Parts: sequence; structure tokens; C-alpha cells
Amino acid sequence: MARLVMKFGGTSVADIDRIRNVARHVKREVDAGHEVAVVVSAMAGTTDQLVAWAREAAPLHDTREFDAVVASGEQVTAGLLAIVLEGIGVNARSWQGWQLPILTSNVHGSARIEDISGEELIRRFREQKQVAVIAGFQGLHKGTGRITTLGRGGSDTSAVAIAAAIHADRCDIYTDVDGVYTSDPRVVPRAKRLDKIAFEEMLELASLGAKVMQVRSVELGMVHNVRIFVRSSFEKPEDIDPMSNHPPGTMICDESEIMEQQVVTGIAFSKDEAQISIRHVPDKPGVAAAIFGPLAEAGINVDMIVQNVSADGATTDLTFTVPAADYDRANGVLVKSKDAIGYDHIDGSSDVAKVSVIGIGMRSHAGVAAQAFKALAERQINIRAITTSEIKFSLLIDAAYTELAVRTLHSLYGLDK
Ligand code: ADP
Ligand code: ASP
Ligand code: MG
Repeated sequence: MARLVMKFGGTSVADIDRIRNVARHVKREVDAGHEVAVVVSAMAGTTDQLVAWAREAAPLHDTREFDAVVASGEQVTAGLLAIVLEGIGVNARSWQGWQLPILTSNVHGSARIEDISGEELIRRFREQKQVAVIAGFQGLHKGTGRITTLGRGGSDTSAVAIAAAIHADRCDIYTDVDGVYTSDPRVVPRAKRLDKIAFEEMLELASLGAKVMQVRSVELGMVHNVRIFVRSSFEKPEDIDPMSNHPPGTMICDESEIMEQQVVTGIAFSKDEAQISIRHVPDKPGVAAAIFGPLAEAGINVDMIVQNVSADGATTDLTFTVPAADYDRANGVLVKSKDAIGYDHIDGSSDVAKVSVIGIGMRSHAGVAAQAFKALAERQINIRAITTSEIKFSLLIDAAYTELAVRTLHSLYGLDK
């Protein structure tokens, strides 16, 4: 007997038929003798609709009310799944974030989970063989008593946090792909499914654009050592051999569990970037602080930063990226600080994309990035900025070349199937 968390994403609960399919997956595990907590997302498209309504109601709204609105999607699917489970003879009840409770910080719209007590769930597994159906994405801020949400994709984080709280043997993430691939299979048809991926690599893939797992869920899994298994909800529950320990999927696990480490594990990309270049800034101490201080105060996250050593010892150019959604705001902040910074002019573009190559093997291999520069040059793709770290490097290019660059690098590093 094992204790499992089963998380189902939006596409997997998109209508009542799919919720019935999810219920059969849950029943399959219950019949095999396991203790099960299920975490559900809202039906596909629902959260987008709720966000749009909140914005339509007032572009600048109270984020506490925003959370009250967007948390509702998960309440619906949790209740529906519990109803369907009861209908097929599985003892189940729904839980909203405030009922467990899942306690969070009060940063509405992207709250952090602070505490979950798993005792009541465990008691009900033991005494009543009851399945818990938990609304993902939402929690409660204790001090104010208000509903919070965990940021887009946050049900993954709910699932991993609950797995840690109830000491689950595994957290299964059921989604619309049968695992984590070497790149987004929608963009790279030749992408391969990975049997295993290390937490650190998954963390980089997720934070650099692969939305298959929310970044914080991977962080939590790493800290609490939760084994996370990404698999497809579209597999027919009836076709899964209850005795098989190896359904198709990807295990996100500790690096030490991976025997054969490739140099490059995956390619991620993000079109959600904008580039800003500040021309002819004085090359003297304090200038970087004058630029990035006000941006930080405005809550704008700066990512890639490239600065040249000035040729004349007087002025230089400084280029960096911000999230595309913050592009106009960042420009506004810089125009306001023009006198303090003392630059000549600003230019930039929101038509850029960041393509990243990730692999733990890069720690011990030199020249991995150099191969990419050559391959992209052969395709006439211009690189606007580069950043590197121990297990990844990122390239900023024109957005129009994203797919071509991703596929080129995917072949270059031997990832095509
Ligand atoms: P869910 O609604 O189940 O949470 P998401 O849409 O959040 O599902 O995540 C699944 C999607 O992530 C896939 O459909 C796929 O297009 C995308 N994706 C991006 N990068 C990858 C990758 N490297 N491997 C698998 N899927 C990826
Ligand atoms: N429903 C939320 C979203 O669409 C949370 C999730 O699906 O994980 O972002
Ligand atoms: Mg998701």
C-alpha cells in the first residue's frame, strides 16, 4: 500500500466526461489499496475567463477580490469530481483551501504556501478510507482570513505541498502530455520523453519557459524530496496494468538517481521577454544602481544584463531584459530617472525571445555554448544577448526565429528522436 497525491490539470478536467475519466483513474488507485489525495485545477480556459472578467470589471482592482474571483474555478471541479467519485462507489469529499486549511502568505495573486496540516486527511484515510479531493491553486491568509491564489499553474504547487504534508510516497502530475520532453512537443515534434530528470534541471526548464510544471512546485519537491511523476491523464484507466511499476512518464528526482547523464537535457524558450538598451550611459560607479534601483522599486524583474566596457572610457551601452508585460512600465521608470542616470537615449523591442539550453552535464563539459553560436550563425539568426550559469545558457534572439532556433539546437545536441 502506498500513499499518493494525484494532480489533474485543466485539460484533464475540461468537461464532465473527462472528470469521469479522472474518477476512474482515482478508483484504479483506490482499488489497488492506496490512500489517495487528489488535487484538481479549474476546467481548461476557466481561469483565463475569470481573470478577464476581473480586468473588465476594473483594470486596477483590489487583488484580494481578484483572488476571490479566480479561486472559484477549482471549487467547481473539486465538487464535481467528489460527486462523480461518490457515484462510482468511492468514498470522497471535496476540500477548499480554507477548509484544510492551506495557509499562505498574503501576496494575493502569487501567494506562497506556509503551512498545511495533513493530520485530518491521514486520519480519514485510515478510519474512513476516504479520498480527499482538494481544490488546487488556492489557500487562506490566516491573519486577514482572506482567500489567496498561488499564481498561474499553481495547482502543481498545491499538489507537491500536500504530498510533503501527508508524507506521500509519490506525487503524480497527470497532464495532457505523457511526461517531460526534451523540449515543448508542440513546437518540436521530434522531442523525446525523458524517463528521469533531475530537480535542478526541471527547475531551470520551468523557470526558463517550459510550463509543464510550475517553478515553485519543483522547488518544493527539491526541498522536501517529493518524488514527482509526470504522466498522461488521457491514458485509459482500464489499460493500465495495476501490477506495472513503469507506466509511461517522467520521474523528477534527485540527480544521484540518474545513471547516464547527457550533456544537454533540454531546450526551453520564452516569448514573454522584452529588451531595453540604454545608450551612452556614463561609465562610472553608481550608474547600474541608478538604473536598476528604480526598476526594483517598481517591482520589475530584470533578467539578462549585458554591459560593454566603454571604448572611450566615458560612456557605454547597457542592455537588459524585462517581462514583456512590464515593458511599457519599465520604459516609463527609466524616462523618469533620465537625469539621475544621464543616458543619451533608450531603444528596445518586445519582439524578442529567450532560448535556453539546460543540462547538468555542462558543469563538466567546455564549449557547449560555442557550438550553439556557430549553429545559429549558419541559420543567419542574430544573438542579441547571452547569459550563462553552471548548468544552462540563454540566448536572446528575434521572436520570429524562436521555433527555428529551438529546433536547430535540439538537433545540434543530439536530442531528436
Ligand atoms: P496542465 O493544465 O495539466 O497543468 P499545462 O498546460 O500547464 O498542463 O502543461 C502542459 C503543457 O506544457 C504541454 O501541453 C506542453 O505543450 C507544455 N510543455 C512545455 N514544455 C514542455 C516540455 N519540455 N515537456 C512537456 N511539456 C511541455
Ligand atoms: N487554474 C489555474 C491556472 O490556470 C491553476 C492551475 O491550473 O494550475 O493557472
Ligand atoms: Mg499547469
